[in-house]
Amino acid sequence: MNSRKDTTNLRRRLLTWYAGNGRVFPWRTVPTDPYVVLVSEVMLQQTQAARIAERLPLFLAEFPSIRHLAAASNGTMIRAWKGLGYNSRALRLRDAAAMITEHYDGIVPASVQTLRTLPGIGPYASAAIACFAYGVRAVVLDVNVRRVYSRWMQRCERTTDVAALRDIEAFAADVIPTRNADTWHHAVMDLGATICTARAPLCRTCPLQRHCPSANAMAQATRERKAEPTFRGEPIRLWRGRIVKHLSDHDSRTLRQLFRDVTGTTATASDLAWLHTVVHKLRTDGLVSLDGDVVSLPG
Ligand code: SF4
Repeated sequence: MNSRKDTTNLRRRLLTWYAGNGRVFPWRTVPTDPYVVLVSEVMLQQTQAARIAERLPLFLAEFPSIRHLAAASNGTMIRAWKGLGYNSRALRLRDAAAMITEHYDGIVPASVQTLRTLPGIGPYASAAIACFAYGVRAVVLDVNVRRVYSRWMQRCERTTDVAALRDIEAFAADVIPTRNADTWHHAVMDLGATICTARAPLCRTCPLQRHCPSANAMAQATRERKAEPTFRGEPIRLWRGRIVKHLSDHDSRTLRQLFRDVTGTTATASDLAWLHTVVHKLRTDGLVSLDGDVVSLPG
């Protein structure tokens, strides 16, 4: 975009599209509840929005206030988080709730800097919570927003092209409207989720087509995947989730029983060594207890 007029037109086009096409989620309530925003933003890290839309009401029924959440035990949190993956997020969320209860009288802070000091709240989540809970004009940059801004800023030839973070931040600081920054970010996220997608952007039906230098430029694009550690062809993170889920449904298990239950096969010596490493890491993360070779959920 070259001028203030271009920026104004882009904003108008996007917000008009959002008014008729925005997604509806239980955490986008009016008036906004900062506690709900806090919980949903932590859930949304690594888990699909549609799944959170199902689970959030159940979670809020069990923990109706930040003080209820702050008082939950590790085992209670892991059971309540079942199926959402990355269980350590649940414990950090509980720890954040405890800190807010103790130091901020149970009120979720509005300052990005203060939010950043809470357990499990990184640069993205702190900006998102401040923006979506209180309308703070923070720069909210998740992977989808970075992709959309990159395509607006420059002509991207491949779908994997992403501008330098510093340049994206400067662009974002300019393009975010001075009012209703929360609505703006919801609109950018929804465009990224439904039209300006990672692998196959729908430029021909995009409301921003006339304002976007990358429109129709990525026909030959491919997307590279980062390799991640696996066991028997599946990511370790999936095995971690299965182990915790299995323990939340059953009593304690020996390592050998646990291996048989989650894989359906009998463990060899090298299998047991692998499982011991995974369980040891889960214990370090506070997600399981290990007594000798007996594994269970923490009390
Ligand atoms: S025109 Fe294409 S690349 Fe540009 S914002 Fe729309 S979908 Fe994304």
